[in-house]
Amino acid sequence: MQPNGGVPPSPAAAGTAAGSSGVTRFTLTDALPPQHFSCNPLDRTYDKRRKFDGTSKQDEVSLVVVAGREVCIREGSGGEPGAGLGAAAADLQALLLNATDPELDLNSDSICLTWVHGDQAYQLPLYLLGQDRTERWTFALDVSDCREGFVAFLRQGCGLGEGVGLQDLRSALPQLSRDAAAIAGQATALSQWHQCNRFCPRCGSPTAPVESGLRRQCTADPTHKAYPRTDPVVIVLVESPDGRRALLGRNRKFTPGMYTCLSGFVDQCESVEEAVRREVFEESRVLVASVAVVGSQPWPIGRYGGCELMLGCVAKARSYEVLVNTDEMEDVQWYDKEELRAAVQMYDAAASSGAQEGEEPQSVAQLQEQSLEQLGFFIPPPLAIAHHLMRAWALADGPWFPAVQPATGAAAAGGAGGFSAAAAAAAAAAAAATVTNGKL
Ligand SMILES: [Zn+2]
Repeated sequence: MQPNGGVPPSPAAAGTAAGSSGVTRFTLTDALPPQHFSCNPLDRTYDKRRKFDGTSKQDEVSLVVVAGREVCIREGSGGEPGAGLGAAAADLQALLLNATDPELDLNSDSICLTWVHGDQAYQLPLYLLGQDRTERWTFALDVSDCREGFVAFLRQGCGLGEGVGLQDLRSALPQLSRDAAAIAGQATALSQWHQCNRFCPRCGSPTAPVESGLRRQCTADPTHKAYPRTDPVVIVLVESPDGRRALLGRNRKFTPGMYTCLSGFVDQCESVEEAVRREVFEESRVLVASVAVVGSQPWPIGRYGGCELMLGCVAKARSYEVLVNTDEMEDVQWYDKEELRAAVQMYDAAASSGAQEGEEPQSVAQLQEQSLEQLGFFIPPPLAIAHHLMRAWALADGPWFPAVQPATGAAAAGGAGGFSAAAAAAAAAAAAATVTNGKL
């Protein structure tokens, strides 16, 4: 479970001091621990990678096999399968090749591996990831065009057995070590981006990978260049005006019973603070005052095949009334700090289960079922930055921001446009109904 499942330092322990009002102030750095997909062990210094030309290679190169969101893993090669929550039970299945292997072309602009299957020869693209700790160059090998055949080749042709296969990174994530997850995240993000950018967005001509897969080039116009992109997403824990509650919500696609922080894409030409205020207002009609960015998480398995950067924020609400935007959310409500703390501690109890001889470790599914039964909801696991936002807030002593005077009738004043209610009067009634849901 360590280090991701550890209890983060309280604001005071992180070197902050309680203000004269008795309100605990927090630092903007180190509020959250390093997140999954961060701390990639590969050195991907950009100028070094750009200089890779096949002549700087070591004797051996490492290939991480990917196909879009899927990555090649080897079951049962990590820690003990079924051991405590978060234990690595699998690892990446990389291929080690000699750099002078005739099937490997590392000297051209579009580096690739030639693989002959039956009577067909595939030019499988390679994307440079970086150098490992032994300075061995590591690449993603994209087998999107021949995934089934290549997996069969790995199992039978290479003798790796049935435990090796391509698996969706999201489902494989709980089995992977932090290092493996970070490398797999970089490799799958690149594969998804290359697959979705085969044509130039400016003129529609075909594009080709260049600079060892670090970008793509339009084949019709040398000035048309495309670089891998990242989409910023704000994810926010909203603290109530009195500092005692947090605003959590769920949409219909979530697992039943799961509540989490509100989130949404940052619009073009919009600041993080503005995006937080807009998203919270759109989803709940709650007004937000202060916003602070407290951490971030790369998320290579984002919506619509994109690579996202989750910007973890804590915000102070200046109103209580909740009016759920039913176009976007199934429910949004305030949760007491004690409730959220109990939900967080469910994960800690599960992580330490199985320590005694004869005791079965608790699975994530079991703890979520238990949380649902005892608390009526559960929160996402420590793989997600939302978990750490909730953990940091729920375990901190006292509020994160000074109390503010709440605005009244803010939800109704926000209007009914885009919401299920058709008129301001209906919106006001709905807001009043929501206020009486037992959380205020
Ligand atoms: Zn073009």
